[in-house]
Amino acid sequence: MARSALRIVVVYPDLLGTYGDGGNGVILASRARRRGFEVDLVEAASDRPLPRADLYTLGGGEDAPQVQAAERLGAEGVLAAAVAEGAAVLAVCAGYQILGKSFPTAEGTASPGLGLFEVATEKGTGARAVGEIVVEAAVPTVGLLTGFENHGGVSVRGPSAGALGTLRRGSGNGDGTDGVWSGRLVGTYLHGPVLARNPALADVLLSWATGRDDLAPLDDRREEALRAERLEAALSSPLSMLRRRR
Ligand code: GLN
Repeated sequence: MARSALRIVVVYPDLLGTYGDGGNGVILASRARRRGFEVDLVEAASDRPLPRADLYTLGGGEDAPQVQAAERLGAEGVLAAAVAEGAAVLAVCAGYQILGKSFPTAEGTASPGLGLFEVATEKGTGARAVGEIVVEAAVPTVGLLTGFENHGGVSVRGPSAGALGTLRRGSGNGDGTDGVWSGRLVGTYLHGPVLARNPALADVLLSWATGRDDLAPLDDRREEALRAERLEAALSSPLSMLRRRR
């Protein structure tokens, strides 16, 4: 049955809420409402069935809850079914790794992901990747993405998995790129929340979820000031370097 409201689901904030990425759902809902869409924003806890939605967000988490989230999503099958029907997804860090083929547990063994991305995440050999990250996005209209990262995994993409973008600073996937962009799905290592720092990415996700490519511009002066400050800090710092970890 068709829903009249745009439904945005934040997936398992009780398991994937460590890094404040639930803010991405709030930002998407706010940007849609300011344009006159009726929005149903659902924080979907892991002890309840995952609702069907037009747009899902998944956030970062600790190693053990990440395994629990992947097991539950795999057993339930709702997210994969919604994606097959055209739902859009923003998956950050642990959420990104879960959407891939496999990711490491705290002990370093491989745990299965949902396989929506042709990506396998492994434990990195160097120091944990922590700090500001800047990515030149491959998605049209998005431009430079600013965020921060905090992860131990490195993500190896297969031939069908195009990167979300190229690194200007930071570690990302560990090979000079960050994340994956495939159809209406985006995976990334950027926290922030990433959509607070990058409203253009929020609008791309909203246009995929609504089927509308004529979203009215919003007054983003505060967001633009934040972006300018973060990009300047990240790109001019003496620590501004790419960290290759494989
Ligand atoms: N546990 C994963 C890693 O360290 C994800 C961390 C996160 O979500 N920030 O790679």
